[in-house]
Amino acid sequence: MFSSAPLLLDTFRHARQSGRLAHAYILFGPAGIGKKALAFDLARLLLCPKGGCNACDVCQRIKTFNHADFRLIEREDGDKVLKIEKIRDMMGEIHLAPMEGQNKVFLINECHLMNEESSNALLKTLEEPPANSYLFLLTDMPEALIDTIRSRCQEFRVPPRPANEIARILSIELSLSDDEAMFLAKMSEGSIGQARKLHEQNAHETCKWILEKFQDLNQLNELTFAGELESRIKSADGSKTEHHRQEFRRYLSLINSVWRDMLYRALGIPSTRFFHSDAQALGLYNQLNLTAPRALAGLELSFEAEEWMRRNANFTLAVENYSVELCRLMTGKVH
Ligand SMILES: [Zn+2]
Repeated sequence: MFSSAPLLLDTFRHARQSGRLAHAYILFGPAGIGKKALAFDLARLLLCPKGGCNACDVCQRIKTFNHADFRLIEREDGDKVLKIEKIRDMMGEIHLAPMEGQNKVFLINECHLMNEESSNALLKTLEEPPANSYLFLLTDMPEALIDTIRSRCQEFRVPPRPANEIARILSIELSLSDDEAMFLAKMSEGSIGQARKLHEQNAHETCKWILEKFQDLNQLNELTFAGELESRIKSADGSKTEHHRQEFRRYLSLINSVWRDMLYRALGIPSTRFFHSDAQALGLYNQLNLTAPRALAGLELSFEAEEWMRRNANFTLAVENYSVELCRLMTGKVH
């Protein structure tokens, strides 16, 4: 069992012990950072007779949504908004006495997806929260909530997790090598959800391919490289051009992990800070021995290509253009 955000959880524990716990909280942070995991920990803190032991029957039933005083409110698959009926159901329940213990806990996931009607309904509950009821509003867009809701809640930013902790979780969950787990953790910017998504997208395998290509880029025909890149992008994600654009941007962000390493190397930053510190990557970096301005030019080229994608430039032409510039940069024929 991995604790979601130990310091934040301690803050809540202290607030509870000293009777300063509020009735409504907004927990915010980027998608996948662990907001829901923290909210589940808080539900255990409030409902478990031992204050969240993670072992007892109550804690187990919270995990499996089988606790009568614990409700998760979220939009249905396919819905774009969190419907008013969900908020009304919650309002009906929140005024009833707890069924099992002392408290009732409600989590509202993606609460920024409430429309005006739902927001106003929730506001009524927040204005007069029943005793022993606790609401946790989870969102990655707190700024999208109406001010009157925000002013009635305490806000907490769920902090990013340290890379080594994410790497540890990934190695256990997915039996990954240390190199891969650490690479995904560093790319995830502290979000376990993002790290898992990168794994599903085979980010590490894609980087291996990128490193391999960089090794040969000065001998490679630029249009051969462009063709290979284009077919990889197309095979990964359907037939829609919009998907190809997104996939190209994903490739660019992975390519940037290599450029950033080479920039770090040129600046004398230790390889423990690199995204890739395996033998293949370090061998390539030593072989290329790029200066900082050239590594920066590589990053700038990626940013430029991302901009083309944002502006809906022709996908095939953009890949070709990018490949030509990339090969020029690698062979030193920069203009
Ligand atoms: Zn327990």
